[in-house]
Amino acid sequence: MPDSAGWGTITLVTGLLHEPQPTPLALLLLGQDADPGSERGVECPGALPAASDPDLVDRAAAAKAALGDRLFILGHHYQRNEVIDFADVTGDSFKLAQQAAAHPAAEFIVFCGVHFMAESADILTADNQKVILPDLAAGCSMADMANIVQVEHCWEDLEQAGIAEVTIPITYMNSTAAIKAFTGRHGGAVCTSSNAERSMRWAFEQGEKVLFLPDQHLGRNTAVRELGLELTDCVVFNPRKPLGGRTADQLRDAKVILWKGHCSVHGRFTADCVDDVRERIPGVTVIVHPECTYEVVTKADIVGSTEKIIATIAAAPPGSAWAIGTELNLVKRLAQNHPDKTIAYLDKSVCFCSTMNRIDLPHLVWVLESLIAGTVVNQIEVDPETAKWAKVSLDRMLALPGPDAKAD
Ligand code: SF4
Repeated sequence: MPDSAGWGTITLVTGLLHEPQPTPLALLLLGQDADPGSERGVECPGALPAASDPDLVDRAAAAKAALGDRLFILGHHYQRNEVIDFADVTGDSFKLAQQAAAHPAAEFIVFCGVHFMAESADILTADNQKVILPDLAAGCSMADMANIVQVEHCWEDLEQAGIAEVTIPITYMNSTAAIKAFTGRHGGAVCTSSNAERSMRWAFEQGEKVLFLPDQHLGRNTAVRELGLELTDCVVFNPRKPLGGRTADQLRDAKVILWKGHCSVHGRFTADCVDDVRERIPGVTVIVHPECTYEVVTKADIVGSTEKIIATIAAAPPGSAWAIGTELNLVKRLAQNHPDKTIAYLDKSVCFCSTMNRIDLPHLVWVLESLIAGTVVNQIEVDPETAKWAKVSLDRMLALPGPDAKAD
C-alpha cells in the first residue's frame, strides 16, 4: 500500500526487495533556483506559489476550468502524479508532440515534460499556438550532451576523414531542435526508441555510414541487436577530443559512429541489477528501456519504449512478476495501477529523472494563473529556419514504413 509520502508501492514483495530510499538528488527542493547544469537553466521569473499551499490542487483545477478549451495540458509518463492528474493526455515525447498538433483549437499548450519535447511541440503546432514549459530549467541530461557547435565540429572531422558524404545522421528525438535541423540539412532523420531500427535501416539505404546522436546506447543496441552488426562496427565519438578521440582510419572503418551521450537515468541500471533481481524474485521478467547499456538490454527479457513497457505490463497476467528498468515515476504509477502484479524497480535506489521532476504543481499553477492574468510565461519558441529543417528530419521519420512512431 502507498505510504503517506507515496513511496510504498514499488516493493510489492515484502522482505525480498529493499524499499527505495529518497536520495538528496531525488529530493532536490524545486522552486525558483536556477539549475545551471541543465539544458536551459534559468531562474523562474515569477513568484511561485509555496509548495506547502494547501489550496494548490483547487487552484490548478480552477485555473484549468477557467481556461477551458483554450488550454491543452500534455503530461509525459515520467512526470509526477501531482502533475499527471491535470494532464489532458499522457504519453511519450513523440505522441505528446503529435497530440499538440492534433489540437489546433488550443491556444496554449502547456507541456509537462522537458525542453526538447516542448521544442518539438512548437515545431509541429501552428504559429498561433503557444507552447509553454512550466519550468525552463527542465532540460534533459542526454540532450545536453550534444550541442550544435560540437556536432558541426564533428561533421568537419568526418569531412576531413573523407566520409561525410557517405554518412547519414540519425538523431534521437531526445535532442535539441538545432540538432534535429542539422540532421534535416544533412539528409538524415529523427528516430524514436521504437523506430530506431527502421530509421537506421533507412539510413543505410541512403549512405554507407550512420552518425547516431546523442544516445550511444540506443544507437549501439539498434545497430548490434536489431541490424546484426558487430560491436566492432561501432565507434564512440567523444566531442571533447580531436577527431572524437579516434583516428581517421577508425572513423573510416566504422559503420556506425555513436555520439558519446547517454541518459543519466537509464545509465544507472547495470548487469548486476538484473542478476540481483532474478535472485530475489524467482520467475521475474525483466523489461528495460533501450536507453540502457548494451550489457543490460542483453541480459533483460524484453526491451522496449515507455509505451511498450506500459502496454506489456497492462497485458501481463495477474500474479506475474516484473522488474522494470526505466524512470521511477512511471514504475511507481505502473505498480499503483496494477496491484495484481508484482512490480519491482530494477535499481535498488531511487532514480527519478531530476529534470522531469522539476515540473511540479507550484510551477503548473503559476503558468496557468499567469495565463488567466493575460501573461504568457515560459513560452518555448523555435526560430523559423531551425524549425523548418527540424521538421524536414521529423517528416522523414514519419514517412518511414511501419507502425506509428513512439518515443522516450
Ligand atoms: S529520463 Fe533520461 S532521456 Fe528522459 S528526459 Fe530524463 S535524462 Fe533525458
